[in-house]
Amino acid sequence: QHAIDQHEHLGIFNETMLRRSQYGHTLETQLQGAAQRQELSLMYQPISDVDTGRWIAVEALLRWQHPQLGAVPPSTFIPVAERSGQIYQLGDWALQTALRETQAARALWPEAHVNVNVSPVQLLMPDYAERVLQTLADLQVPPQLLTVEVTESSVMQDVDLACRHLRKLRDAGVRVALDDFGSGHSSLSLLTELPLDTVKLDRSFLREGAQATARGALLRNTIRLARDLHLSTVAEGVEDAAMLARLSDLGCDYAQGYHISRPDHLEDLLSLRR
Ligand code: C2E
Ligand code: MG
Ligand code: MG
Ligand code: MG
Repeated sequence: QHAIDQHEHLGIFNETMLRRSQYGHTLETQLQGAAQRQELSLMYQPISDVDTGRWIAVEALLRWQHPQLGAVPPSTFIPVAERSGQIYQLGDWALQTALRETQAARALWPEAHVNVNVSPVQLLMPDYAERVLQTLADLQVPPQLLTVEVTESSVMQDVDLACRHLRKLRDAGVRVALDDFGSGHSSLSLLTELPLDTVKLDRSFLREGAQATARGALLRNTIRLARDLHLSTVAEGVEDAAMLARLSDLGCDYAQGYHISRPDHLEDLLSLRR
């Protein structure tokens, strides 16, 4: 009886694994050439000043629309691309497209700035910073236009290398934001050690629930620490006016979230811009 149970358990286990790996394999195969087939695009979400409501920048977010698979979310295809190495081309495409589109948008919105997400895999390239600076030079885009968003876990893979990259970028005028801060096992000391301009406070900070009081204290003190360290703060996932008012009370500088705008095509955002 025991042997049969074990066998059946393994059977189900393997089937799940197979399905997963087949889907993963399908994604990997289909991701090949997705840019050339024009299935990739960027959506942009504004980041606004908490007190004035003015938009200071947009974050570029990758979208993949496949003819059969439909819209595949970045949380699904980016991990696949990271495992397969396709993230290098994907990351290059996202950076170049974000810079080109934002530069073009400056005709209508002269102060437009763009945030681009960076994968941990990209940050481990020995020449990551040089490649970004080369792209900016090739496209004749001022480095001040760009903020790169790195996550805590990507930096932790090789702190020394990450710091070298980030310092090189900042010396050239690119700004650096720490994304999703507070989502994992965040250490406050990281904020003092990394060459950063901005901390993006993960939206889990704003969630209501049993731990709301503790999270509130953490949020308040993270904003205070960031200010003492001369880092600006962006709250992610701001979904209603009450959250925005609370962030203003706490001294948070900027906000991003559905309450301000959903991610949208850049040209559509330009007409809505505040
Ligand atoms: P992220 O960088 O933290 O981006 C913010 C995510 O939160 C986006 O999801 C955005 O649509 C979502 N969001 C914005 N406002 C709200 C809100 O008010 N409520 C809620 N519930 N969600 C909100 P998205 O576009 O699905 O992207 C997910 C993640 O995929 C990003 O998280 C980022 O880590 C990654 N990603 C997206 N584009 C790229 C890219 O070009 N390169 C890399 N390496 N990663 C990317
Ligand atoms: Mg981000
Ligand atoms: Mg984020
Ligand atoms: Mg987040």
